[in-house]
Amino acid sequence: MNTEEILAKLVSFSVLGGQSNISIAEWIEEFLTKHGVAFVNVPNTDGSKRSIHCRIGPAIDGGTILSGHMDVVPVEGQEWASDPFVLTDKGDGKLYGRGSCDMKAYLSCCLSMLPEMTKANLKKPIYFAFSYDEEIGCLAAPELAEHIKTTYTEKPAYAIIGEPSMMQPIVGQKGIVIYKTRVNGSAGHSSRIRNEVSAIHESAKLIVWLENKMNSLVEAGQIDDRFDPPHSSIHCGLFPQSGIAPNVISDSASFYWDVRVIPKDNAKEILEEFESHCREVEQACRKRFKDFKIETVEDHPDVPSLDTPDDYSVVALIKELTGRNDLGAVSYAAEAGQFAEAGFQAVICGPGDIKQAHRADEFVAKEQLDKCCAMISQLILVQSQ
Ligand SMILES: [Zn+2]
Repeated sequence: MNTEEILAKLVSFSVLGGQSNISIAEWIEEFLTKHGVAFVNVPNTDGSKRSIHCRIGPAIDGGTILSGHMDVVPVEGQEWASDPFVLTDKGDGKLYGRGSCDMKAYLSCCLSMLPEMTKANLKKPIYFAFSYDEEIGCLAAPELAEHIKTTYTEKPAYAIIGEPSMMQPIVGQKGIVIYKTRVNGSAGHSSRIRNEVSAIHESAKLIVWLENKMNSLVEAGQIDDRFDPPHSSIHCGLFPQSGIAPNVISDSASFYWDVRVIPKDNAKEILEEFESHCREVEQACRKRFKDFKIETVEDHPDVPSLDTPDDYSVVALIKELTGRNDLGAVSYAAEAGQFAEAGFQAVICGPGDIKQAHRADEFVAKEQLDKCCAMISQLILVQSQ
């Protein structure tokens, strides 16, 4: 099967983040087996999802992991010109379909190059690491990366995460964490607003505090020009319906906020500062209502940022493989920071444009598939020397 045929097959599995991925995992496993490659599963607790990893080549230190995710985002509410789960070639050099770009393009390049890998006389191994639930918060990658470390006796050195980057080597990625804050206030007639504590009013003030915190980081010069925007962002995107009537003081409210940090900022420090501010607010408000409380919990786990130094050997490797020296940084979350945290030198480099991801008529240009296969071909050459 060529790259396009594999991509068409992968796109036909409409496995969304959060859903069981057994169907697509089984197909990939069958593909690996047909090519004589043994694989290892990393299942979730109820067995409804699993990551896959495998090694091609000898059990020698210094190998390279090619990593991608098998899940995609939903298509609901999007106007697609063709069936999103049928890879469509409109004759314009592009292949349309959900996940065609993010990131089944990379997976299909990895798989289509497999025969070349198994035929080559690899001196250093190449690994595949395919995860699930990336699109709902990079949930599976930490366990997958740890599993790779404990499964193999040798130590892989590098990880190339194939998120869409137009094959530009990416060495920086923002981190992200999402929090939920719940405020417990006191109910009462709206005329008594100065006697009770409105959970809605206090929530609104906390959200303004968060926005001010973001602005103060910018003013303090916490800038990293590699990113767009070049600063950490703090944003409240969900304030679920709180309160019961216009004339009743609300006794509970909650809101969700996300923090996207540049590598030199720390989401945990921002949270700590927010928490200490919340304790002060609690003290003040308890004079009016003794059970006033503000609680903040992680809504999904911290996805660490990526900041691979230019002098790391993975940077020299990816420059050699792609022939590109224009290192970049991205503002989206990806699994690269997690692989780096697990001890692998990590970069992002994959086919397609992130601008096409997550939207109607997502596509990948055919020339991007060719470029990615050329990069993997080059990797095979380098690992065979
Ligand atoms: Zn992705």
